[in-house]
Amino acid sequence: MPAWRTETTSTMTTLDSTHDPARRSWVDSANDPATDFPIQNLPFGRFRRAGSGDPWRIGVAIGDRVLDLAQARSAGGWDVDIAALLEPLAAGDLNRFMALGAPARRRLRAALSDALTDSSDASDASGGRRDALASALLAQADAELTVPCTIGDYTDFYTGIHHATAVGKLFRPDNPLLPNYRWVPIGYHGRASSIVASGHPVRRPNGQTKAPDAETPSFGPSRRLDYELELGFLIGPGNALGEPIPMARAEEHLFGVTLFNDWSARDIQPWEYQPLGPFLAKNFASTISPWVVTMEALAPFRAAFVRPDGDPQPLPYLDSAQNRATGALDIRVEAWLQTAAMRAAGSPGVRLSAGNSRDAAYWTAAQLVAHHAAGGCNLQPGDLLGSGTLSGREPSEAGSLLELSDGGKRPIALPGGETRTFLADGDTLTLRAHCERPGARRIGFGACAGTILPAPPLP
Ligand code: MN
Repeated sequence: MPAWRTETTSTMTTLDSTHDPARRSWVDSANDPATDFPIQNLPFGRFRRAGSGDPWRIGVAIGDRVLDLAQARSAGGWDVDIAALLEPLAAGDLNRFMALGAPARRRLRAALSDALTDSSDASDASGGRRDALASALLAQADAELTVPCTIGDYTDFYTGIHHATAVGKLFRPDNPLLPNYRWVPIGYHGRASSIVASGHPVRRPNGQTKAPDAETPSFGPSRRLDYELELGFLIGPGNALGEPIPMARAEEHLFGVTLFNDWSARDIQPWEYQPLGPFLAKNFASTISPWVVTMEALAPFRAAFVRPDGDPQPLPYLDSAQNRATGALDIRVEAWLQTAAMRAAGSPGVRLSAGNSRDAAYWTAAQLVAHHAAGGCNLQPGDLLGSGTLSGREPSEAGSLLELSDGGKRPIALPGGETRTFLADGDTLTLRAHCERPGARRIGFGACAGTILPAPPLP
């Protein structure tokens, strides 16, 4: 049995040499202070040479390159157990690697970090190895990226308490937050087949809507198309049907974190959602960022989970000492809008909002895992849990246009004289995020972008 299989897995927040902010890579672009992908990050993604039509391959982002793990494995020089860990990745199967869990991830992370480190050792042997690995690098600009793994099931939660309050206020001014909110992580089962990777266009949906003063509903293009700024939590090892995941072990089932945009048709939603919840207002498309930032890369950016004074503490099945100490994530999240006119004028667009997941989320990722499995539901490698819209307390931190435009009542003024209440055809909405703390190297998530196409013709 390889040594990593027997390691304890309760050390997901432990820092090691892979987090050393002084560590630099021989891949020059990874040492750029502005890169999302320094050697301390090493996120996984699925890619191929753009336009090639080749099978998807698994890679790790390093600076502005992607390290092809099939080619890297062929380059040789790996310990036997590392070569075995690289095998499913070289075969293009991230899910099979995800199933192995944290000890395997940590072991491979250390090996990849060492292999990419710019050491002072310039011996012929290490120089030859470096040349072999250098030939396994592809410029990200020449790569096409897709959804990072096979997502079998997708569940969207509602952990943003300020979002839940603001949206609740639009519908129930006197009673914005329903009484269950502070006790049970609210969620619904979403649609995995329509999750697309950043860069994939998003077609405006047609749907059934009914204005409050209208006699009957009508069918046509959504006129209140919105985005939701979320994090996506990808599951590593699953659990057997009928066997809940205790809080003390919940983090062991997390593989990593992405950005996630749960595109939402706000006019279809209120007409269809009662009594069974969101349906066609959400299932036409969701966009995921292609690089999965692992739980190990996030270790320096954990934060305490704290309930505000006067709020109930979680029930015991949603509570653990580790969760209280380090359950939250300190991730700065942003939403950017580039209209077609801005694109034509060469403008990169305007930032709509910026906030932090630590302040926005009422429940931690571990609590979502434990709650999801509490009744015996089996999670599987590659399953996706959406955080829900991560709006902060301040209006400038709102993670959707529904909040930014006060339910569509207050148009947002954009530079250049344009206004928006909801998204227009041609708009590109991009989510970005990064982690930054004293004593740690800044890491980022890359982009989660989608451009709105006109609705298809009516039947
Ligand atoms: Mn959502």
